[in-house]
Amino acid sequence: MLSFTYQALPTRVIFGSLAPELLQDELSRLSVQHALVLSTAPQAEQAGKVLAMLGDRGAGVFAGAVMHTPVEVTDAAIAVLRRQDADGVLAIGGGSTTGLAKAIALRTDLPQLVVPTTYAGSEATPILGETQNGIKTTQTNLKVLPETVLYDVDLTLGLPPHLSATSGLNAIAHAAEALYARDRNPVVSLMAEDGIAALARALPRIVQDPADRDARSDALYGAWLCGTCLGMVGMALHHKLCHTLGGTFDLPHAETHAILLPHTIAFNAAATPDAMARIARALGTADAAGGLYALGRRLGIAQALKAIGMPEAGIDRAADLAVEKPYWNPRPVERDAIRRLLARAWAGDAPEPLD
Ligand code: NAD
Repeated sequence: MLSFTYQALPTRVIFGSLAPELLQDELSRLSVQHALVLSTAPQAEQAGKVLAMLGDRGAGVFAGAVMHTPVEVTDAAIAVLRRQDADGVLAIGGGSTTGLAKAIALRTDLPQLVVPTTYAGSEATPILGETQNGIKTTQTNLKVLPETVLYDVDLTLGLPPHLSATSGLNAIAHAAEALYARDRNPVVSLMAEDGIAALARALPRIVQDPADRDARSDALYGAWLCGTCLGMVGMALHHKLCHTLGGTFDLPHAETHAILLPHTIAFNAAATPDAMARIARALGTADAAGGLYALGRRLGIAQALKAIGMPEAGIDRAADLAVEKPYWNPRPVERDAIRRLLARAWAGDAPEPLD
């Protein structure tokens, strides 16, 4: 007998092409008269082009978004927002820029139109991670869920192949854990499997030819599905380990996800045979963890934590932290097994085979 809870999230999602009329219509729907455009510094030029499309509905650009949403950057953006008399935000960029839009929404309740340019998936979730005095805290609050998300494949064509690969594997991680989440449900599982399949098909083609629009389109669709999974059900060991390692050793977000994923999936494999079968089917391989490791290798990403700056001495520290206040996980989180997992991921070994 089926028994589950499904809670839809109220975001309007558009796949289309950025154009003045579309942007202005969407802002009008949100009753936004003057939108502040947000971006990182490297994407300031792109933000300027969007501002030009907004005409009278544009209030200016704040191009100061950075990784991990520091509170002082949010305060600076809100000061600009007030000065320019803006009554909404338009974020163009990856998870860092979306994070800034969400942090502003949390404090002001102003509407957000988000235009994602990576595959991180933050735009589809009511989750916000912020940093203050070097400490990152995460909260879930519907106030931060973007009202409207506009996906335009052309904006992803310039995402470098390496970032595309790691960002896409970051998205796959959301869907893989959704398949064995404690609060999983059949609808989210459909999205998860289709999201993994779309990204697994698209990423090798993108790495070969970053201008392949069909592959880019598949990847963006997959990223949306995977991000939606992250927003709808709880996450487990994989996300906990990534947050712990990222925060403790200042490791890059998407790469950390990409390297750890085959290992965390192998760790949970025996406890979650149905999820493993669906991941393997989506990847077109016999084994979920082995398939993810092979995909990373095919994409040419770093496969060892030591290659992205984690010190060997950090393995024990990370194992201690992982068993302190663990997230719910389908297999008990025992220190010795976690240490083994981390040692393999640090060295770049293949994931531990099933007993
Ligand atoms: P990012 O937003 O930091 O982007 C990485 C770099 O790539 C930036 O310099 C950015 O300007 C640039 N970039 C982005 N799109 C580009 C494009 N199309 N072409 C060229 N350059 C481009 O990286 P990310 O991986 O998207 O996001 C990571 C952040 O998002 C982390 O802080 C993470 O915690 C957060 N995140 C949050 C959630 C959530 O639900 N709250 C989900 C996933 C990630």
